[in-house]
Amino acid sequence: MERKSFIRQSLLAIPALYLGNSWLFSSCNKKDEVKPGDWRGDVIVIGAGIAGLHAAKLLINLGMNVTILEASDKTGGRIRALSGMADFDIQLGAEEVHGNKSEWYNLVTATPGVSLHTPDGEDYFFMNNTLKSETAWAGDATLVQAQTFESTARNYSGADKTVHQAELDQGNNPANFEISNALIGNEYGTSNNRLSIAGITEEDRLWESGDKNYNLKTGSYNDVLQHHYAAVIDKVLLNSPVTAIDYNGTKVNVTTAGKVYTADRVVITVPLSVLKNELISFMPALPAAKKTAISAIGMGAGMKVIMKFNSRFWDGAMDSLIGGPKSAEMWVPGLGRSGAFVLTAFIMGEKAEYLSSLGTGAVSALLSELDMMYGGAAASSVFDTAHIIDWGKEPYILGAYSYPVVGGGIAQRAQLGSSVDKKLFFAGEATHTAGHSGTVHGALETAIRVVNEVTQN
Ligand SMILES: Cc1cc2nc3c(=O)[nH]c(=O)nc-3n(C[C@H](O)[C@H](O)[C@H](O)COP(=O)(O)OP(=O)(O)OC[C@H]3O[C@@H](n4cnc5c(N)ncnc54)[C@H](O)[C@@H]3O)c2cc1C
Repeated sequence: MERKSFIRQSLLAIPALYLGNSWLFSSCNKKDEVKPGDWRGDVIVIGAGIAGLHAAKLLINLGMNVTILEASDKTGGRIRALSGMADFDIQLGAEEVHGNKSEWYNLVTATPGVSLHTPDGEDYFFMNNTLKSETAWAGDATLVQAQTFESTARNYSGADKTVHQAELDQGNNPANFEISNALIGNEYGTSNNRLSIAGITEEDRLWESGDKNYNLKTGSYNDVLQHHYAAVIDKVLLNSPVTAIDYNGTKVNVTTAGKVYTADRVVITVPLSVLKNELISFMPALPAAKKTAISAIGMGAGMKVIMKFNSRFWDGAMDSLIGGPKSAEMWVPGLGRSGAFVLTAFIMGEKAEYLSSLGTGAVSALLSELDMMYGGAAASSVFDTAHIIDWGKEPYILGAYSYPVVGGGIAQRAQLGSSVDKKLFFAGEATHTAGHSGTVHGALETAIRVVNEVTQN
């Protein structure tokens, strides 16, 4: 998740929920506390993103026999970097560390060669066919309205509706809808017309990792994974997409393309979209409430387009460019760490669906948007090269990250994360029940929760 300016509120504890077949303990309190039970046995972990790697590490440390099956040819999942385009690794998935009160923050800052900073740049806004810095827009009522809407949207108390419906009902100026979409929907991995305003309010009230966002100043998240998870990464069986899980018997049989693996318990950390698209079949079928939860949490298209130029046509102080009709938001990934002329377009939801449909044509679409904003051929005349990462088309990810839809809510996330028959256990960002869904630190916290659950007798 790319949260730029969200104002976090203090936290309330939420109680444990009973869901019929298991207790769900709120990870709101002591979310980072590993409190394993006494059960020991053979465990299969499915997926080697941060949730799978962290769960596997904890289980191995407890002396368990752990098999890790990863569908793709690499570990890290939605943590991935592009090397070679600039003099630093450009993050293709997770980019910011949200807050300094999380185990993920601790791991990142404890990695040799890796450091964080919060670059001091300025936001530029495109509105009414004009691109200006926030300073130059100062006092503009239409921009202020969008910014006020953004900063108050997570204090909503009323019947659930989409964020877009809320701005319509409030009578906001349509001239700022692109801005508010970039500031809210896009950050949550979707569009304002798909995002629940009650949902983001519910999640934001539980946020407790801190308000400041950090970017990498040196190093890469791959360094973090290699440093803290090397022993686990060595054990990961790559190119092992799980297609079926049979939990009819006392043991669980997990089928991949070439082999069947057997264990006592299985930890499933695949992205929500993989479950939505039923890439894994379950025998017996998952409980109805679990299936409802899978469809009652959103996850859809999302992409980054990294563009490198031969010279800079934007202001050297620019951090982000907000409100592009096609891009929603672009930023300068090397701000404060590199002189490379690189922009990252970060596009979610409806806009990502459109750009995704253009294939490699997405680059020319974004270049013409930049030309339109800056005038003439400002961008296209100095364009060098580009890299598209279209997460919705990544075969084992199939989307960006989860978000709340109207009528959904954290109870659905709790249901998604609930265990089945003490044999299937679910983790991963979408199962976070205390507001950190859609983030790396949230995914890691679900790994801690799941290990505490798996080890119960
Ligand atoms: C563009 C983008 C920007 C983001 N920005 C940020 C940010 O700035 N800060 C932040 O904190 N978070 C950000 N996130 C979110 C963050 O990356 C994720 O929340 C987090 O990495 C998810 O971790 P995970 O372990 O739950 O899932 P994943 O990392 O998706 O791991 C799941 C793994 O399961 C594997 N898998 C899938 N199907 C199968 C199968 N059938 N068999 C075996 N394996 C399978 C997948 O290949 C994958 O490796 C961003 C995400 C995206 C896409």
